[in-house]
Amino acid sequence: MTTFVDRVELHVAAGNGGHGCASVHREKFKPLGGPDGGNGGRGGDVMLVVDQAVTTLIDYHHSPHRKATNGKPGEGGNRSGKDGTDMILPVPNGTVVLDKQGNVLADLVGHGTTFVAGQGGRGGLGNAALASARRKAPGFALLGEPGKDQDIVLELKTVADVALVGYPSAGKSSLISVLSAAKPKIADYPFTTLVPNLGVVTAGSTVYTIADVPGLIPGASQGRGLGLEFLRHVERCSVLVHVLDTATLESERDPVSDLDTIEEELKQYGGLGDRPRVVVLNKVDVPDGQELADMVRPELESRGYQVFEVSAVAHKGLRELSYALAGIVAEARAAKPVEEATRVVIRPKAVDDAGFTIVAEDGFYRVVGEKPERWVRQTDFSNDEAVGYLADRLARLGVEEQLVKAGAREGDEVVIGATEDAVVFDWEPSMAAGAEMLGRRGEDHRFDTPRPAATRRKDRDAEHSDPDREFEGFDPFGS
Ligand code: GDP
Ligand code: MG
Repeated sequence: MTTFVDRVELHVAAGNGGHGCASVHREKFKPLGGPDGGNGGRGGDVMLVVDQAVTTLIDYHHSPHRKATNGKPGEGGNRSGKDGTDMILPVPNGTVVLDKQGNVLADLVGHGTTFVAGQGGRGGLGNAALASARRKAPGFALLGEPGKDQDIVLELKTVADVALVGYPSAGKSSLISVLSAAKPKIADYPFTTLVPNLGVVTAGSTVYTIADVPGLIPGASQGRGLGLEFLRHVERCSVLVHVLDTATLESERDPVSDLDTIEEELKQYGGLGDRPRVVVLNKVDVPDGQELADMVRPELESRGYQVFEVSAVAHKGLRELSYALAGIVAEARAAKPVEEATRVVIRPKAVDDAGFTIVAEDGFYRVVGEKPERWVRQTDFSNDEAVGYLADRLARLGVEEQLVKAGAREGDEVVIGATEDAVVFDWEPSMAAGAEMLGRRGEDHRFDTPRPAATRRKDRDAEHSDPDREFEGFDPFGS
């Protein structure tokens, strides 16, 4: 069975991790105590969670930007910062998550199934947690990591809750457009609408989808017109709505015989007999239409139909209709059994946490790896000790050694990171404990690449007066 696809682009931003705190315990009349800076809190995650009560993606059409809150910074006295609050986004069962390129990230099936669409940043360690036998009183803390933000696409194959049937030009498309946020194409001659329109209607606390069955004409069940094709779209609807034209100029037609004709087609098609039906008399804004509606109403009611007089053009009777349909849909949903929560948690594919790679590029060396990149993000480059700690970590991971093997020489540029926020360093290997990395903050290698080496050298000299470069020449292993 063919279904409609409800599609929404969503921008999710996880919370940033709080910065760690660098603090030293103080008490009146006592010598300085040890480091007591607390850790920053974790940034909140953005999570998509399947909720059976949710049936459409309409909320995300209205507000497509969703952000979790940031972690709080750590404080002195070993106080950790509070974690950010997760942003939980309820989605309908069967929602497919894609990236902007159209790759499927997750297929969310089963009540409670969770997808972490944006992972919150880690909090930075405070100086208490960074203290070790070698580094008894660290004068720095780690920065919190930025939370991940990304654009994702949600797609939901939806089955219409309400199906509109009726002669061409009865006003089905018009009704969908005025009842819902969707605005289908409308034209005033038959057979225009060759694709079914889908709309999403909100009535009170009920949200439901409404679709039309275009091209349903006498003989459709034998394959005339395109009605049969479209009846398949509504096979699983909860309610059928007969849209009857009270203002047709065709002399051999009237609302009651139109209804009989359409019912005959539905019967031939089969399978829809058990579905509740309501009747809509449309176009009562036309004086003759209102007159005709008054005339046929008793006959329709005597057949057991609930009858609504509306005008799609004059916006008359729409509220009553949309609430009545919501009631029928809600009842049908309540009759369906509730699934057990399955609670599968899907996290984005884990990155290789262990290693790193070094690639010799045009004029510089690039270090790519989850750990070195994260460590750079955690480093406060205005703090010498923090930079030294970074150099220490990189050396211990073997980055120095591998740079030597890759052929890097003193003065070469080393870029850590694959993305645009990569950081550029001047590499100055030291023979002592491996090597030392000397950092330059705030440089963007993208601006560097086209420049000839000589110019770069000159720029570099000029930068010696830059206060950001205070840590130049700092030896992490000396002090
Ligand atoms: P569909 O073929 O059933 O989808 O019918 P459309 O929604 O395309 O409408 C056919 C024509 O009827 C269009 O010209 C509409 O503007 C017109 N129409 C629809 N609803 C009303 C109504 O309530 N009053 C009047 N006067 N015209 C309507
Ligand atoms: Mg139409």
